[in-house]
Amino acid sequence: MKKDFDKIPLGPDHPIEKKIKWAKRIYSEYSHHLLQDKTICALLEKYRQSIEENWQVMADTGVVKECTSCALQDGGSCCGSGIENKFDVVNLLINLLMGVELPSQPWDPTGCWFLGEKGCLITARHVICVNFICKRLYDALDSQSIHRVQAAMQKETENAFLLEEYLKVWLAKNG
Ligand code: SF4
Ligand code: SF4
Repeated sequence: MKKDFDKIPLGPDHPIEKKIKWAKRIYSEYSHHLLQDKTICALLEKYRQSIEENWQVMADTGVVKECTSCALQDGGSCCGSGIENKFDVVNLLINLLMGVELPSQPWDPTGCWFLGEKGCLITARHVICVNFICKRLYDALDSQSIHRVQAAMQKETENAFLLEEYLKVWLAKNG
């Protein structure tokens, strides 16, 4: 198999369809090798755990309740069309490695490509999605809850970063 990783569209400035196509291609050709790499498996597991912990903290502190109410009653406002453009091929590849099925078209043309009927469809969200606390949340949560949420967000984004950087090096070395 000819490796042409040097042609991977790097960074966010490419159409999402093209980035998804590349992520799926790398996944179908190399997931077997990637998932045999002990460091990748360990980083994936650590990242997955911190994502779960963050969701638990968001549930415990009332973020999930507030966001559900915002989305159902007020239409939400933070998963709009275009946010998917922030993702790069590595972000998308990580989702595939976590067993996520990437949609081939958006469910809602006015929303983010990854927004489904019941919320976000992907597991490994972009750092801008993870780190977002809007005014409504600042108003609804006490300062202790805000600090808990921020700490959980930070842990998730740090683990995402470690995995992304390792995968970039892996692709550069093996391409
Ligand atoms: S983060 Fe803010 S704007 Fe987005 S769904 Fe939650 S409450 Fe609404
Ligand atoms: S949380 Fe999910 S649906 Fe919302 S903007 Fe981020 S990736 Fe898109």
